[in-house]
Amino acid sequence: MIARVALELIGVERHYSQGDSALKILTGADFSLHGGETVALVAPSGTGKSTLLHIAGLLERPDGGDVKVNGVSCADLSDDRRTAIRRSEIGFVYQFHHLLPEFSALENVMMPQLIAGLGKAEARERAAALLDYMRIAHRADHRPSELSGGEQQRVAIARAVANAPLALLADEPTGNLDPDTAGYVFEALKALVRQSGLAALIATHNLHLANLMDRRVTIEDGKVVEL
Ligand code: ADP
Repeated sequence: MIARVALELIGVERHYSQGDSALKILTGADFSLHGGETVALVAPSGTGKSTLLHIAGLLERPDGGDVKVNGVSCADLSDDRRTAIRRSEIGFVYQFHHLLPEFSALENVMMPQLIAGLGKAEARERAAALLDYMRIAHRADHRPSELSGGEQQRVAIARAVANAPLALLADEPTGNLDPDTAGYVFEALKALVRQSGLAALIATHNLHLANLMDRRVTIEDGKVVEL
């Protein structure tokens, strides 16, 4: 069976103006991300990884081209519509966890579900299941400051997928962790992807982790190319 395309970049252009000249970051970038796959985005700093993730996640609009989420073309949609699609279909994980310090791990994972209108009991149940999946259930009642870096990132991943998005976009999610911890966090993420049919695009400098993913892509001359 061919997995559906969760996210598609079509001829994406992104330029920044730099004085009189334009800094061309993406120049007709094409890319497809399928359900159930993990793809590593490996490229040197400054080549446009974060830019690509922001555009793919509808946080930024491209200067040209289109992004399709679950087959829906987003280029001409209003900001409100794009925000609605982003909230329901995309999960983000960053290098630093950005968990809310006043709340427990469990509450942090419940939060996006409550905002999306789910009842408390249901949100709690799903949050507990996700923490269990990320092998962090035993720390559910702890606040982020009481968790290790690897534990915090596992909670951040659980939170990112709390509303069952189609795609998870991660910018150096293990960049701040030691290699063993990074491996452990990645294994938990990969198991989640496999089990849920989620699609994951993960920017990383860690070549060992990149090699454990289904595919590797880079950015060359403003285009996405397979490695
Ligand atoms: P990466 O994530 O691969 O390190 P980025 O996507 O953050 O790369 O940035 C790509 C390039 O675009 C860099 O040279 C960066 O300085 C530049 N850039 C990023 N955002 C802006 C902006 N808002 N204005 C001008 N230049 C930017």
